[in-house]
Amino acid sequence: MKKSMKSLLGVFCAALLMLTGCGQTANHPTTASSDEPLKVVATTTMLADLARNIGGEYANVSALMGPGIDPHLYQASAGDVSLMQQADVVIYNGLHLEGKMGEIFQSLSTRGDHVICIENGLEPSQLLSAEGSSDIPDPHIWFDVSLWKSAAQTVADGLSKADSAHTDTYQANMKTYLTELEELDAYIHSRAEEIPQQQRVLVTAHDAFQYFGRAYGFEVKGLQGISTDAEAGTADVSTLADFIVERKIKAIFVESSVPPKTIQALQAAIRAKGFESVIGGELYSDSLGDAEAGTDTYITSFKANIDTIVDALK
Ligand SMILES: [Zn+2]
Repeated sequence: MKKSMKSLLGVFCAALLMLTGCGQTANHPTTASSDEPLKVVATTTMLADLARNIGGEYANVSALMGPGIDPHLYQASAGDVSLMQQADVVIYNGLHLEGKMGEIFQSLSTRGDHVICIENGLEPSQLLSAEGSSDIPDPHIWFDVSLWKSAAQTVADGLSKADSAHTDTYQANMKTYLTELEELDAYIHSRAEEIPQQQRVLVTAHDAFQYFGRAYGFEVKGLQGISTDAEAGTADVSTLADFIVERKIKAIFVESSVPPKTIQALQAAIRAKGFESVIGGELYSDSLGDAEAGTDTYITSFKANIDTIVDALK
């Protein structure tokens, strides 16, 4: 009886977390500023890069997840939890991107620690939801540069709150970075326009690119849904293969944070229907690339993505 009550409570708490997404952060007094840089822990590589750009010399940033790691499935280790507990600031995406970490963020927020949740800086009207279920938000907001500009603002405000002595620097860094993001946005638009509108169809391993599609005029199809948590069934593969054959889409794409086998299965299904679609390359979806490939920043990985997409579909 006791045990079942406990598991019921667990289910209830999990359901509550599902509903709330980003927890409300308790008010926390500004930490005294010292010459020590802020210890900032970000969940994803995208957020760590954003924090480095805004925090500059006053932030010592680490990412929990490395290149190629899938945030939907990521389970925090005991080491991760203690890293977050010892950090001055924790940054996460929210919108259930870090699907297995909700309870950890909840307890950090309840403690009144400095927690920056990108979701809290966005209006519901800016968000997309999962296909067919309006109450499940799409977390992949970094694929619309205008939303990433909001994220930059949220991070600048959060760092300023945690370390008010350097507010001017954080705000100035943000302004500089916003200019770089505007240049990136213009680059993506101009490359996208090289493809005729009816050929702008992006087929990838999971549904990470809906914001990209909305911002830059692409029709987007993901083999798996907005989370990699559920596998694509054979019916999904077959339906998508029919669509590709009918529209004569010449390239489909693998993602760096999702195993390539689903896209390879799709390619085989297309071939079985008598059409040939090449694998147009690997896209950085839910993580950035690495320094060796020169794609370890948001800007360089996004440029690599649009170049890969346009070169394959043109
Ligand atoms: Zn994803």
